[in-house]
Amino acid sequence: MKLSKRIQQVKPSPTLALTALAASLQAQGIDIIGFGSGEPDFDTPAGIKEAAKRALDQGKTKYTPAGGIKELKAAVVEKLKRDNSLSYEQSQVTINCGGKHSFYNLMQVLLDDGDEVIIPSPYRVSYPPMVSLAGGVPVIVECPERNGFRLTPKQLLGAITDKTRVVVLNSPSNPAGAAYTRDDLAALAGAIAGRDIAVVSDDIYESIMYDGRAFANMANISEEMKQKTFVLNGVSKAYAMTGWRIGYMAGDAAVIKNVETLQSQSTSNPTSIAQYAAVAALSGDQNPVMEMVSAFARRRTLIVNGLNKVPGFACSQPDGAFYAFPRISDVYRFRGWEKIASRYEGSGNSSKLCSYLIDEALSGV
Ligand SMILES: *Cc1c(COP(=O)(O)O)cnc(C)c1O
Repeated sequence: MKLSKRIQQVKPSPTLALTALAASLQAQGIDIIGFGSGEPDFDTPAGIKEAAKRALDQGKTKYTPAGGIKELKAAVVEKLKRDNSLSYEQSQVTINCGGKHSFYNLMQVLLDDGDEVIIPSPYRVSYPPMVSLAGGVPVIVECPERNGFRLTPKQLLGAITDKTRVVVLNSPSNPAGAAYTRDDLAALAGAIAGRDIAVVSDDIYESIMYDGRAFANMANISEEMKQKTFVLNGVSKAYAMTGWRIGYMAGDAAVIKNVETLQSQSTSNPTSIAQYAAVAALSGDQNPVMEMVSAFARRRTLIVNGLNKVPGFACSQPDGAFYAFPRISDVYRFRGWEKIASRYEGSGNSSKLCSYLIDEALSGV
């Protein structure tokens, strides 16, 4: 059957492919840990699950408003005030089916064909396809390790054209764990101020920061920046709730209203009982979050030190999030690498190295 041009340009997620491979090896009884996709291994905290059970028992199993229940919007408004010193009206907040869906919806509402979206690299793999699906053009800006994987104001200025509609910032970032300081953001704001450009601030890892770093986002920088910024967040990462599918965003009320129109004609409301669970997550006891973050901090040290012992690997300490992003380019200079690489299909040394490491490990099983 003929497929649309729209879907033919979208490639399946490489991280999901690796996760599927790890799962199939696990199913064969092989002792392997999947590090492909970003997902806390913790269970959702008990108090949150209780709230979902209560909602079920109370029959909260019907359609809700497309943009989410009032209680959750109120909890988001309160959270943004409490944790981010940002004040929003409920009309500036909408609830979506996961943080990814918030981003997807926003691209659909903001972009016309050919509009450019600046994405600092390394980036979350699903940003460019979501931009393309909305007709936009991802403009990838390489942010090297020597700059801490962060976009500089000079790079941002160099990437802006009269087609630029959106700049994406994700701090702390997936996959480099790079966090922007308030000063970094203020400097970037200088490149955006006075232009008709929106900022997407993907704050999903806000609570997972190390070494006492303080979180700030672009909306904190100035009133002008707050008006240009869409703060995206969700419960997936901080509360170990990836499967519940609740994300949210805050920003310009007219745009938010259009996101809700789009949502009402596509997914309709996010799952009712998951929304009640999210109220408990945002408004309830935050201790489970701190416990998970201290476990992530211990694991960060373990995995980064371990990676640095592997010949050809070099890994710096991430500022936040729960990823390690080692530099492996030295491996490609080892004698014999070309021959190994030629055994594997596809492009990209890094995915070939993943396949090789899995093969090597399995040959010893
Ligand atoms: C995981 C993640 C999200 C949110 O994912 P959802 O499960 O859709 O809520 C958003 N942004 C980044 C960068 C992520 O890694």
